[in-house]
Amino acid sequence: RVTGYVLGLGSPPEGRELKAVLRVLDAVPVFPPAMIPLFRWTADYYHHPLGEVIETALPGGLTVADAASCRLTDAGRAALVAGEGDDAERRVLALLEAGPRSERALRRAAGPAAKALRALERRGCIERQPLLRGGSAGPRRERWARAIAAAEPAQGLSAKKQTVMDELARAGELPVRALERCVPRAGAHLRALREAGLVDLFERHAYRDPFGEAIVPDAPPVLTADQERVAGELTAALGGGFRTFLLNGVTGSGKTEVYMRVAARALDEGRSVLVLVPEIALISQMERRFRARFGECVAVLHSGLSEGERFDQWGRVLRGEVRIAIGARSAVFAPFEDLSLVIVDEEHDGSYKQEGGLHYNARDLALVRARQLGAVALLGSATPSLQALHAVRAGRYRELVMPHRIEARPLPEVSVVDLRACRDLRGPGRFISAELNRAMAETLERGEQVLLFLNRRGYASSPVCAACGAALRCRHCDISLTLHQALNAYVCHYCGESRPATAVCDRCGSAAIKKLGLGTEKVEAAVRAFFPAARVVRMDRDTTRRKGDILSILKALRAREIDVLVGTQMVAKGHDFPDITLVGIICADLSLSFPDFRAGERTFQLLAQVAGRAGRGERPGRVILQTYTPGHFSIQAARDQDVAAFYDQEIGFRRALGYPPFARLAQLRVADRERGQARAAAADLAERCRAAAAADASSHGLEVLGPVEAALARVAGMYRWQILLKSRGSGPLHRVLERLLADRPQLLAGTAPRVVLDVDPLVFT
Ligand code: ADP
Ligand code: ZN
Ligand code: ZN
Repeated sequence: RVTGYVLGLGSPPEGRELKAVLRVLDAVPVFPPAMIPLFRWTADYYHHPLGEVIETALPGGLTVADAASCRLTDAGRAALVAGEGDDAERRVLALLEAGPRSERALRRAAGPAAKALRALERRGCIERQPLLRGGSAGPRRERWARAIAAAEPAQGLSAKKQTVMDELARAGELPVRALERCVPRAGAHLRALREAGLVDLFERHAYRDPFGEAIVPDAPPVLTADQERVAGELTAALGGGFRTFLLNGVTGSGKTEVYMRVAARALDEGRSVLVLVPEIALISQMERRFRARFGECVAVLHSGLSEGERFDQWGRVLRGEVRIAIGARSAVFAPFEDLSLVIVDEEHDGSYKQEGGLHYNARDLALVRARQLGAVALLGSATPSLQALHAVRAGRYRELVMPHRIEARPLPEVSVVDLRACRDLRGPGRFISAELNRAMAETLERGEQVLLFLNRRGYASSPVCAACGAALRCRHCDISLTLHQALNAYVCHYCGESRPATAVCDRCGSAAIKKLGLGTEKVEAAVRAFFPAARVVRMDRDTTRRKGDILSILKALRAREIDVLVGTQMVAKGHDFPDITLVGIICADLSLSFPDFRAGERTFQLLAQVAGRAGRGERPGRVILQTYTPGHFSIQAARDQDVAAFYDQEIGFRRALGYPPFARLAQLRVADRERGQARAAAADLAERCRAAAAADASSHGLEVLGPVEAALARVAGMYRWQILLKSRGSGPLHRVLERLLADRPQLLAGTAPRVVLDVDPLVFT
């Protein structure tokens, strides 16, 4: 049983028997016809099955394939009796003994069981069957009350009833549940008030607000001259057909205000607006500002929502109840029909790229959507991608520049500290230099806030045996384990393998392990040691695992309950904290060493963004940038916050090496459990690519590079190889891929070897 989507009617293909429809799952279509060309484009461009594209686009509650039922096989029963397998596997087997269960129920009962399920399935101990399920996540309804305007104010009400009436008079309408929070048994009082003709009770869809904060409406401020000019040009372009703008505005120049002003115009014209933002943490900020301005007509879509919440938000867009949707990458598929404005905030951000499943880039798809619907596409960033700047130079995008911060606040002053001078120091002085230490002391003294940035989590990222010098490595990946003190364990950041912190050296058995290598936990510990009175909080993936964690950290920061925030790139993005006046970049070089032609670009963007967090309020900001390579141009451009200087240097390298934006890339990744199989499969595939290229006269200039072993040659027990296809235009690239896939239609569906196609890849490890 599979789910299918009806895109139109036609006659059955000659000589093929169609299967019967078991059940129609939706009473009304779940996406408008205007989405179909986008689905088709996506399927063609990423060489991905159309049905799976649609499934990726729809909110989880609407699809049925994500739920599977598992049952025990005879082999599984035997394994259970024999007590085979590890702990997790035995737990799963024991649960299934009582009868089949859904995967979801197993995960709930047996903890993180995905790996165990895969292993058991491979050994034939369990069988999985898709479970047919539909509409489980329907919208909830909630009871609301409103006061009926009476000629005479009611007399002689009890105190409780009077409170209810007062609340209603103040708010107009309220959910009964909200009233119950201030008046016990409000429900009974409301019924009595309805009998008396004073109150009206009714039902409404209950939209589960993701953050549940009270949002105070705001009035639009008077625009600055820069904002006025930019917003004017953008609003004039609305309704005039597809056009792409790049809003290149320094951090704190008021880009969000421009977005809202142009969006307001689109709404006035009766059209809809899509706003994409990179990260979940950021959505709360963008959402809050849009909600404050536009109230209830905003929907929010991102993967941090529960299935039911996403379903609700999707439905509101589909029914036309909201005209603005804000979300992370999957929101690019929000079911609008009449968009006149598509905004991509922080367009340079790598998190628009989906890795795994359908490998799409939401930033690029946003432009495709805008083109298909004749909408204005507005890309915004303080550190635009090289690709966008190049498109501006080539005349494809129109660039709008906002070079100044609001209220002429100065950009922060950046000092570079050469970490090589601290190399011989012992202890935390190695990575918190004297300059940084002094600046922190001064800032804390003044009662202001400090942000410390290091793009690596954990305590020690390269533990080494003190006796024999061997690194403590993951057994399944070609990578060091990272010590996490909070977990009291060594953890592999790629496959999740963990070992107790008491683990001994694999080679010599010594228990003396040196905690080398830096991570946010170690920085946090150092800050506590240097500044015992400071309130220190760490924000990285480890401290924000639960829903709401990020938001509560951001709230505490805003409420000045935090003096020093230590974090990974999570803290770098888009937040607006007026009281942070010092930003310390602990080690600027980490991302430079990545085996990736975009390493310089990413480093520049990340550093300039982090630096931009300083001095956004009334007091000027300061940045201390620590680095081992102070002469690198990415670091110098970040110090000067000079996008143009960075562009001029970097574009020369790209041109010389023939990398994007001067070429299009597609990567084929091959993985297998057997070392030899992986290599052989990759060699065979590269041969096929070369043959496909040779068979196509128009693919002249297309290069097939590889196969090469991946920089991370083994992850989670899989040996990994890569092939890179590179050509000047995208036409030849796609024709060769089509030919390759026509030749081997099951190429991307296999598991041994597993082959993944990544069009416009961003990650090369
Ligand atoms: P960006 O997105 O470019 O980093 P923001 O839109 O966050 O900048 O603006 C920075 C700060 O300036 C915010 O606190 C915002 O409320 C404020 N701001 C923006 N535009 C104006 C304006 N025209 N007048 C006064 N304050 C403004
Ligand atoms: Zn050893
Ligand atoms: Zn691992």
